[in-house]
Amino acid sequence: MKKLVVITGASSGFGKEMAKLFSNAGNPVLLLARRIERLQEMNLPNAMCRKVDVTDLDAFEKAVREAEDRYGKTDLLINNAGVMLLGTIDNQNPSEWKTMLDVNVMGVLNGMQIVMKDMKDRKFGTIINLSSIAGVQPFGNHAVYCASKYGVRGLTQVARAEMSPFNVRVVCVEPGAVGTELLSHTTSDEIIEGYEAWKQSVGAINITASDIATTIKFVYDLPQSVLIRELIITDTMQDA
Ligand code: NDP
Repeated sequence: MKKLVVITGASSGFGKEMAKLFSNAGNPVLLLARRIERLQEMNLPNAMCRKVDVTDLDAFEKAVREAEDRYGKTDLLINNAGVMLLGTIDNQNPSEWKTMLDVNVMGVLNGMQIVMKDMKDRKFGTIINLSSIAGVQPFGNHAVYCASKYGVRGLTQVARAEMSPFNVRVVCVEPGAVGTELLSHTTSDEIIEGYEAWKQSVGAINITASDIATTIKFVYDLPQSVLIRELIITDTMQDA
């Protein structure tokens, strides 16, 4: 049997496409999200589905250990779960800032700590963290989302340097705008409409979640000695 792939945020968007891709390629997968019914209804082979909030370190670790008992050690962790609550600093409810920082940054750190020690000991393994092009350059109404994604990029760069001597790959993926459920949790209708109009105006129209999943699998499928450290991936026509 192929090696275990752990995917957070597998109930929608990129995570769901990656779940299908890796499972169909023969990897056992641990699929994590809060909406477990969405994970189960995919009915994928060799898939363990667990209702886990990535901010809950204990629940996250328990699910990973359970999957490892069944399928062997985690070879790939994809820290994909994330939320984007757009808003302006002067106006946004601070509870939205906390949600973004907790899920997008603490959730990634939780996942890394759960698998890193074993990977280091085994001198093998891959961790792929989802940052964003909003972790590379600023966008209006994105202050705290940018903070979270710059944070993911920064911590991933440091972890990459720390894990390289142990032959463990740590990768930062920075997608541009792709149509998923991500925007739907933003609470300002005006900002949602503005974002949709911006997406059209910059040309982020054709790229799909499946394209992101295929690219991430390509990065993983390279030999362990080959590391794509960072990857900005956008619609060809996205000009911002
Ligand atoms: P979606 O909203 O479609 O999917 C987000 C996933 O994260 C869902 O499966 C959701 O599951 C899960 N999730 C959210 N909060 C938690 C939590 N607390 N615990 C566990 N799971 C959680 O978004 P995308 O697929 O677009 O986004 C995936 C990643 O890619 C995110 O990190 C996002 O920031 C990043 N990204 C997306 C871009 C885009 O344009 N789409 C661009 C750049 C980066 P559930 O609600 O069931 O828990």
